[in-house]
Amino acid sequence: MKTDVIIVGAGPTGLALAGQLIRHKIDFVIFDRRETTTPHSKAIGVQARTLEIYEQIGLADKLIEQGWIAKKARMIVGGKVRGEADFAQFGKGMSQYPYILIVEQGKHEKLLYDFIKSNGRDVLWQTELETFSQTEAGVTANVKTASGAVETIEAKFLVGCDGSKSPVRHALGLTFEGSTFERMFYVADVVIDWKFENDALMVFLMKNNLLAFFPMVGENRWRIVGTFPEEFARDEGEALYEEIEAQIKKDSEVDLDITNVNWFSTYKVHTRHVNKFGEGRCFLAGDAAHIHTPAGAQGMNTGIQDGYNLAWKLASVLRGRSSLGLLETYDQERVENAENLLKTTDRFFNLVASPEPILSYLRTHIFPYVAGAAFSIDAVKKFIFPRVSQIGINYRRSALSETDGSFAVKAGDRMPYFEIENASVYDKLKEPKFHLLTFFDGENTALGLAESLPDDLADFHELPLYPNVAEIFGVSRTFSVLLRPDNYIGLITEDLSGANLKRYLGKLGI
Ligand SMILES: Cc1cc2nc3c(=O)[nH]c(=O)nc-3n(C[C@H](O)[C@H](O)[C@H](O)COP(=O)(O)OP(=O)(O)OC[C@H]3O[C@@H](n4cnc5c(N)ncnc54)[C@H](O)[C@@H]3O)c2cc1C
Repeated sequence: MKTDVIIVGAGPTGLALAGQLIRHKIDFVIFDRRETTTPHSKAIGVQARTLEIYEQIGLADKLIEQGWIAKKARMIVGGKVRGEADFAQFGKGMSQYPYILIVEQGKHEKLLYDFIKSNGRDVLWQTELETFSQTEAGVTANVKTASGAVETIEAKFLVGCDGSKSPVRHALGLTFEGSTFERMFYVADVVIDWKFENDALMVFLMKNNLLAFFPMVGENRWRIVGTFPEEFARDEGEALYEEIEAQIKKDSEVDLDITNVNWFSTYKVHTRHVNKFGEGRCFLAGDAAHIHTPAGAQGMNTGIQDGYNLAWKLASVLRGRSSLGLLETYDQERVENAENLLKTTDRFFNLVASPEPILSYLRTHIFPYVAGAAFSIDAVKKFIFPRVSQIGINYRRSALSETDGSFAVKAGDRMPYFEIENASVYDKLKEPKFHLLTFFDGENTALGLAESLPDDLADFHELPLYPNVAEIFGVSRTFSVLLRPDNYIGLITEDLSGANLKRYLGKLGI
């Protein structure tokens, strides 16, 4: 077999990357040793940035239809409801999807897989990577197929989306440093008979454990995530379901009957990331490159963003528009993001579960009573939503980011969400190309700009400088933003001659 890109692993990261390569019309082969997509609920929190990406390929609404929007949270201490917080419109004005969507990973993977099949492609299931090697010109992978035969696949690039134990990472000799939490986590997908409706996230606050119930689609269906106390010393997978149920009842202090258990698992949590997201023509994405606590529902979403960052760069190199150097920015941008992600998820986990006396006092005596009011404050929403939803991730320090002038929004930021002419600006940005947006103040013209763009590279959008745009960007004169195909700002400039644009594209080798 010959192809452009080999994708090892068809979890959410590999499937989403395949979806992006379809969008960019790049040939690929994707395979996985499993028989099909996961039947389990695993990652249930889907963030706004993921939905923005899916909207471009028509999958956002389909995923939303299958899930539940996390509208509110109830805080419970000592078996009693002590507070409520409203989250339905938490990120209003910041994204078209101002919430967290709750939908099982099994349904999510199936949707991505159906998208791949509807585009005439398929995953090679029950196919395992045995070995691979690379030269300056390409990559060769040997795989064992379902029949036991060994086949060879030749490609220009290989991406290991092969999960936390990543054979690709091991073969590349990349390090995966970090630490392992002593605590044992459990997860259970259950039906509960109790006095509460399944209309809110239930957060049980206590001195030194974590317990949360997430409402799922289906009558009285809940996903429970919790930790055992520190003294519960077992190996991964050793705990019995009866022990989990006993812990849930003890920690929740609420009368409840668990009438059905669809799935449960226990696991140790690691916080680790790779030193480098690739070597030569081979790259890593998803859990293969970073793992951390489930606090904040970030893992799967981050893997999907990895693939989104890498796909347009691979496409640009494979089309011969850019040199291999462009691919180095994948590592530069995503390693920095992984480092920040681990710090944030560790801090968040400490806030919700640390036995530190001050933190546990705040958690049980202060937080539940003030959370409702605190989360309704605009400044709090503007601080928290961009961080959790992943819309706040930026590549300001990337070699691809160039800010020329004084703006409130910088090169490297995701294109801010706003409405223009009664529609989301993102409606204009679905094509998998660069987009040059020039906002005119009515006086200055920018005639040289469109001519500076090579044919087929970018769409050019001429728009009036509406007051909401002027306010967001902090500028009142004509200016332009050049968006990369992943809708991050590459160049933001007041130069209207096209000289800066030409120089910027030259830097990309375009
Ligand atoms: C209980 C739980 C709750 C979670 N909650 C959330 C959440 O709410 N939000 C969130 O964002 N994340 C969450 N996560 C994390 C999320 O599940 C992972 O981040 C996500 O599955 C990673 O996807 P991936 O595709 O990178 O890796 P995986 O899902 O691990 O997929 C890797 C694939 O590679 C295949 N593979 C491995 N080696 C080979 C080989 N040699 N040959 C062929 N195939 C191979 C495997 O079979 C597998 O299918 C949760 C995880 C757990 C366990």
